[in-house]
Amino acid sequence: MDLVSFTAIFSNDQDCRAHFKAQRDKAGVTCKKCGGLNHYWLNTKSMYQCKVCSFRTSLRSGTVMENSKLSFLTWYKTIFLLATKKDISCKDIQKQLNLKRYEPVWTMVHKLRQAMEKGDNLGIVNKLIEIDEGYSKIETVNNSNKTIDEV
Ligand SMILES: [Zn+2]
Repeated sequence: MDLVSFTAIFSNDQDCRAHFKAQRDKAGVTCKKCGGLNHYWLNTKSMYQCKVCSFRTSLRSGTVMENSKLSFLTWYKTIFLLATKKDISCKDIQKQLNLKRYEPVWTMVHKLRQAMEKGDNLGIVNKLIEIDEGYSKIETVNNSNKTIDEV
């Protein structure tokens, strides 16, 4: 899968956010204050609220994206780039995604590389890589008349 097909599926921040929330729902949310596992979703605030103590948890809290100001779309594209081109540098990613500052890119890449090696606590990063691998397989089948070098 190339970046064009990837962005056709995750075309905007909304798509990525919705996908991320679905993964987060599956993984479950634990209240930092009381340890409660049941939450309401506050759509307008984009936050979970604990049913027991009303403590609020943001969508990014407790994930690799915690404290990052970069968009969901930027994170998703970076995951894609890292999954498909393992030796890509932070500078290349910064350039390809047209991001102004280097430092947040470095932090993001560092956290993602760690998550890819050891797995993140919610398994979201590896889920995304699976999606990518799934599509790569489909592409390989469709292009079965290509030579092995091209695949
Ligand atoms: Zn709570």
